[in-house]
Amino acid sequence: MRNLTPSERARTLLDVTREFMETHVYPAEPIYEAQRAELSAAGMKNTIPPVMADLKREARRLGLWNLFLPAISGLSNVDYCLIAEETGRSPWLGPSAMNCSSPDSGNMELLSMFANEQQRSDWLEPLLNDDIRSAFSMTEPGVASSDARNIQTSIRADGADIVINGRKWFSTGAADPRCKLLIVVGRNQPVLDPKGTHSIVLVPRDTYGVTIRRVLPVYGFFEQQGHAEIEYSDVRVPMSCVLGNLGDGFAMAQARLGPGRIHHCMRAIGMAERALELACRRALSRTAFGDKLAGQGTVRAQIAEARISIDQMRLLVMHAARVIDEDGSRAARRHVAAAKAVVPKTTADIIDRAIQIHGAAGVTPDTPLAMIWTRARTLRIVDGPDDVHLRMIASAELHKYANG
Ligand SMILES: Cc1cc2nc3c(=O)[nH]c(=O)nc-3n(C[C@H](O)[C@H](O)[C@H](O)COP(=O)(O)OP(=O)(O)OC[C@H]3O[C@@H](n4cnc5c(N)ncnc54)[C@H](O)[C@@H]3O)c2cc1C
Repeated sequence: MRNLTPSERARTLLDVTREFMETHVYPAEPIYEAQRAELSAAGMKNTIPPVMADLKREARRLGLWNLFLPAISGLSNVDYCLIAEETGRSPWLGPSAMNCSSPDSGNMELLSMFANEQQRSDWLEPLLNDDIRSAFSMTEPGVASSDARNIQTSIRADGADIVINGRKWFSTGAADPRCKLLIVVGRNQPVLDPKGTHSIVLVPRDTYGVTIRRVLPVYGFFEQQGHAEIEYSDVRVPMSCVLGNLGDGFAMAQARLGPGRIHHCMRAIGMAERALELACRRALSRTAFGDKLAGQGTVRAQIAEARISIDQMRLLVMHAARVIDEDGSRAARRHVAAAKAVVPKTTADIIDRAIQIHGAAGVTPDTPLAMIWTRARTLRIVDGPDDVHLRMIASAELHKYANG
């Protein structure tokens, strides 16, 4: 068993994060919702509510900024686990307030790994400083995008330029007016080397030929950052916009998804903890059939099972994080896949039970449960569906015995 103890600095930052969440983030939740409703009524549903600027200012003052990026924060992945979990208790506010929200955190990881100096100054620095936002544009409506090799959007070299044609959807964040960068994954045309079929291009959001065709709701909710369907029609950018080398796209996209997936899992555990807390408080305060709900055997069993599942998930995630810290992302692939296959599903189940314990109130906006359930449920698809992770784990397991 590896050492899963966070550093002393991480424990101090965790205390500060908890205090920040209690004092600033939870009280801001109803304000955020009210401001969102006002903005939506005014036709600005993708504009970030002003209360977020206050939260960001406070988070920066407290040193809670960009903690997801080891190269900047000096934290290990294990160090970041419990901090990210704490932010995940309020998934729309906590991570954004600390500049640690997806997809920007994954995009910053990608740029910090592969961008050259000019690209870092054009895109990474403004993102780290929250001057702009970004979107990762890989998934396409026309092909099974859980297999990234299927991606069809064409990336063609034309003299000193790159020309992009294709259609993407679920480019999260692209509809936010502050989004200035689209990180586009496409297929090289012509395909010269079967190993290097895909590339990544950094496309300024306002480039001619980029059109947002629609912004997709999730279970009927329009998230502030928006999931955009985008048409790229003869989009022309200079060759200097290519990230890494032409043909390196597939490997770079995989490298981005490693840390991104484990961060999703860390934050999801926070959602599960919040749901369990709400379920316990409700069960202790409500009486049915002559006893508190908390006195009913089935409710008690659900609460106990949720506690056990959360503790199991945390160990799995922290272990995967430690493998990344000690052996690197590649060696941790199986562990990250295990966490990603288990955590969103288990979290969605725990939130679902908490909704049940709340009765009708659980499906209303009077508690955060309905909203966070949609987040947990979609996480079972985001960054690779459960099934694909199970497939990968099974392959690794079967491989051990394939030769007798
Ligand atoms: C809320 C949300 C946000 C998202 N944000 C982004 C984003 O910012 N950028 C981006 O590029 N994409 C984003 N996505 C897209 C997401 O990454 C893809 O939906 C995901 O990779 C699956 O691709 P697909 O939808 O094409 O499903 P498909 O590839 O068509 O798969 C459909 C289903 O088939 C099954 N399946 C597929 N492969 C296997 C297998 N090998 N074994 C068994 N079963 C299998 C699974 O059940 C899977 O769910 C987002 C999605 C959601 C819901």
